[in-house]
Amino acid sequence: MKSYDKLFINGRWVAPVQNGTFETIDPSTEKVLAKVAAATSEDVDAAVRAAREAFDNGPWPRMSGAERGAILRRIGKGIRDRLQELAEIEVRDNGKPLPEALWDLGDAAGCFEFYAGLAETLDSAAEKPVALPDDRFSSVARKEPVGVAGAIIPWNFPMLMAAWKVAPALATGCTMVLKPSELTPLTALELGDIATAADLPPGVLNIVTGLGKDAGAPLSEHPGIDKLAFTGSVPTGSRIMQAAARDIKNISLELGGKSPFIVFDDSDIDAAVEWIMFGIFWNQGEVCSATSRVLVQRGIYERLLQRLEQETRKITIGNGLEDGVLLGPIVSQGQYEKVLEAVQRGRGEGARLVTGGGRPAHLDKGYFMEPVVFADVAAESWVWNEEIFGPVVCIRPFDEEAEAVRSANDSRFGLAAAVMSRDDARCERVARALRAGIVWINCSQPTFTEAPWGGYKQSGIGRELGEWGLNNYLETKQITRFNSDKPWGWYIR
Ligand code: NAD
Repeated sequence: MKSYDKLFINGRWVAPVQNGTFETIDPSTEKVLAKVAAATSEDVDAAVRAAREAFDNGPWPRMSGAERGAILRRIGKGIRDRLQELAEIEVRDNGKPLPEALWDLGDAAGCFEFYAGLAETLDSAAEKPVALPDDRFSSVARKEPVGVAGAIIPWNFPMLMAAWKVAPALATGCTMVLKPSELTPLTALELGDIATAADLPPGVLNIVTGLGKDAGAPLSEHPGIDKLAFTGSVPTGSRIMQAAARDIKNISLELGGKSPFIVFDDSDIDAAVEWIMFGIFWNQGEVCSATSRVLVQRGIYERLLQRLEQETRKITIGNGLEDGVLLGPIVSQGQYEKVLEAVQRGRGEGARLVTGGGRPAHLDKGYFMEPVVFADVAAESWVWNEEIFGPVVCIRPFDEEAEAVRSANDSRFGLAAAVMSRDDARCERVARALRAGIVWINCSQPTFTEAPWGGYKQSGIGRELGEWGLNNYLETKQITRFNSDKPWGWYIR
C-alpha cells in the first residue's frame, strides 16, 4: 500500500508539523493497512489559512458557476476513471463488500456531477428580484457562498460522505477544510490528487487527517471557519455545536438514528423480508438511516420472523474483496466490541435472539459477526431505543395503525422511517404522520443525490443533497436601492 503520511494543504502534500502518524487497520485481517498523517492544531491552522486566502483573494468564488461546474465535473470523472482501484481501497479501509464500495464510489462521482450541474445554473439563479410595497425602492435577494467551510465526516461511507459535503460547498464558491474519520481516511486523501488533476485552484480543498480530539476539535473551534458541516454521532455533534456557539458559526449536522420500519400484514412477506434485510444488513448496518427498529403487524409476525431467520442465515460473510460476500467485518475493534456488547445487552433485557451474534466458524481473524435478529423486543429496552450501528435488527409486533405510528415516533431520533403495505392510501397517511426527514414507502434505504437528506429531532439540523444541499453553503444577501431623485424627506424636506 502506498504512503499516506502527508496532508493536502494549499494544493501541496505536506508533512504534519509534528510529523505524527496513526495507523489504519484492515478490519478483515486486523493488519495495519497504512500509516497516515496525524494532523494537530498547527496543521489545521495552516489548512484554514490556505482556505481563507483562497476564499478571500483566490479565483474560486469569483469564477462563474459554469467554470466551477466544469472543474467539479472533472473531479467526478477523476473518481470514475479510478473507480475499481478506489473501491478496493475503500473495502480494505472500511470492510464493506466490493459491490457496495463500487456503488458508493459511483454515487460519489455522481454527486460531483450533480452539483456541477447546479453550479452551472447558479449564476442565473443567484439574484432574485424582491417585490416591495414602496415603488421608490427596488430590491434583489442574492445568494453568495458562506465562506470557508470545515467538514468533519464519519467512517461508514468514507468517500461518499466527503462528496456530499465537498461537492455542494465547492459548487457555491466556498473553500473547504475536510477532516475524514481516522478509521477510514484513505479515499478522502486520494481526493487531493483527483482535485489537483481536475485543476482545482490551490487552497480550495484542503484535507487534514487525524484524530477527532487533535484535528477535528481544532477545526470546529477555529475562528477562521465560517461554516461547519458535520456528520457523525450525536455526542460529537453536540460538542461541535458547542464549539460553533462560541463564535456563532453556521452549522449543519447529520447525526444518528434509530429508524423505524412499519410492516402491515397485507405486505408480501418476501418483499418485506428483503427490504428489512437491506435496511439493516447493507453496509454491516453501519448506516445512519438503517431501519433498525421493525414493527410488524401481528397477522404476519411469526411467519415473517421465520422467513427472515432463513434468509439471514444464508448471508455470506467474509472479506469484502471476495466474490459473493454480502456482509463484511465491522469497521474497527472498538466498534465490534460495542456491537457485541449491545447484543449481550439485548439478551439481558429479554429480547428473543432469533439468529446471529456469534463469530462465523470459518473466520478466525477480523471483526466478523453473524447478523442478528432480535424479536419481541420491549419498547422501553435499551436495544429498542439506542443506535447500535451494526447488523442488529430489533422487531416487535403491533395491532393497530395508530399504535404503530405512535411507537415509531416515540424516539429522540428522526432521521428516517419506512412503511410497507399494499394499501397506498395507508402508506401515504402513515408517511405523513411519521416524524422523520426521510420516509420510504415499500422499500428502505435507496438514496438519490437529487432528493433532500437529513433528520428531525436529535438526528440533525439542515438538509444535504439535492438543491437543498446548496443552502448549507449559501448566505442570502438583500441589495436594496433607493431609486427616486427626490430627497427621502425625513430630515430634509
Ligand atoms: P463520531 O462522532 O465518533 O466521529 C465522526 C467524526 O467526528 C470523525 O471524523 C471524528 O474524528 C470526528 N470527531 C470526534 N471527536 C471530535 C471532536 N471532539 N471534535 C471534532 N470532531 C470530532 O462518529 P462515527 O463513529 O465516525 O460515525 C458514526 C455516527 O455517525 C453514527 O451515529 C451515525 O448514525 C452517524 N452518521 C450519520 C449520517 C447522517 O447522514 N445522518 C451518516 C453517516 C453516519
